[in-house]
Amino acid sequence: MFVDSHCHLSFAELAGDVGAVLDRMRQAQVTQVLNVCVRMEEFAQVLALARAQADVFATVGVHPDTEHSIEPSVDDLVCAASDPKVLAIGETGLDYYRLAEPLEWQRERFRVHIRAARESRKPLVVHSRAAPEDTLRILREERAADAGGVMHCFTESLEFARSALDLGFYISFSGIVTFRNALTLQQVVPHIPGDRLLIETDAPYLAPVPYRGKVNEPAWVVQVAHKLAELRSESVEAIGRLTTGNFRRLFGVQA
Ligand SMILES: [Zn+2]
Ligand SMILES: [Zn+2]
Repeated sequence: MFVDSHCHLSFAELAGDVGAVLDRMRQAQVTQVLNVCVRMEEFAQVLALARAQADVFATVGVHPDTEHSIEPSVDDLVCAASDPKVLAIGETGLDYYRLAEPLEWQRERFRVHIRAARESRKPLVVHSRAAPEDTLRILREERAADAGGVMHCFTESLEFARSALDLGFYISFSGIVTFRNALTLQQVVPHIPGDRLLIETDAPYLAPVPYRGKVNEPAWVVQVAHKLAELRSESVEAIGRLTTGNFRRLFGVQA
């Protein structure tokens, strides 16, 4: 069995056909999925799906690439996260790749999310792209270790991974790890302790090999598990068990 620790079922590519997407997910033995919120305007829809489906869980947060959204306060996030189906705060973090202007607003938004995670005692889903130093600095300054969380869609260096592990974070690999040009990332995989490893799709984006270029969906997290099994010389079943157990421990989910 498997879990998809990060996807976006409320995005247009998947939302119109979510029943079929979830059917295919269940047929692939993917037993639980975390549906991640990226804008406050989207949260009601994310929560409604989680309430309707026992195997779908929600987060609340505003993505660092979202330039125009309602800007949540700490209280807004804590209040939204009080629902038992909301497992985490995020996705939040820093992305210096897509936006090049001064990004003080991104850093401030990230701090608000970390404060909310500490207050609500729920872990963080962190997105970090082209901003490794600032991500770690702000996590430390805001004492994010109190909340813990996951570095989602991990693409950074082993050094960055070790710093994140030191803060108590988990490392989640997406379909990127299956790409032929991802050799550097693939070399990081065997160094992550087994009890901190997660898998995800980040669907509808980043479909793994052999589905590259298609609309990604949670069923295909199994391809990520296959790649990790190969890179760690373990069985796919073992990777499935391990990452499922880690998901449930981090996010406080029952089987
Ligand atoms: Zn992300
Ligand atoms: Zn995402």
